[in-house]
Amino acid sequence: MATNRTFTMIKPDAVENGHIGNILKMIIDNGFKIVAMKYTKLSEERAGAFYEVHKERPFYGDLVSFMTSGTIVAAILEKEDAVASFRTLIGATNPADADEGTIRNLYATSIDANAVHGSDSDENAEIEGNFHFSSEEQF
Ligand code: ATP
Ligand code: MG
Repeated sequence: MATNRTFTMIKPDAVENGHIGNILKMIIDNGFKIVAMKYTKLSEERAGAFYEVHKERPFYGDLVSFMTSGTIVAAILEKEDAVASFRTLIGATNPADADEGTIRNLYATSIDANAVHGSDSDENAEIEGNFHFSSEEQF
């Protein structure tokens, strides 16, 4: 059953390239409510833990070093069928394959520097949101 929350990060490339405002506007204009948000930087240890599921993949080291290379915005978003709806809004992992008008189509530069993260299931949305925010920080 679909729940109504997902978790996102605006990644270091999009922050560095000045896209925080435009990405948040797209998120809000598409009907998502922000229920938690912070501007932060991941340590290598925390990024490694967050991406633990990808530990055996060849790009894991690059992914962790990229995600610790600069500041990010982490947020929990609420909308009906949030996980699927948000993945539609962000587009394919590789921006070359991302549909026109999606966040990655507009703001990502490569498969590594792909502008945003979006949870891939309700279960992971909950785990990832709780990884970044205490229950008191979730409105
Ligand atoms: P995210 O989890 O960031 O929302 P995703 O679910 O579309 O992206 P995953 O398969 O979960 O993609 O991969 C996590 C991240 O690892 C991707 O966003 C991308 O930055 C990086 N990544 C995935 N596949 C590759 C690859 N083949 N080469 C380099 N980096 C990759
Ligand atoms: Mg993923």
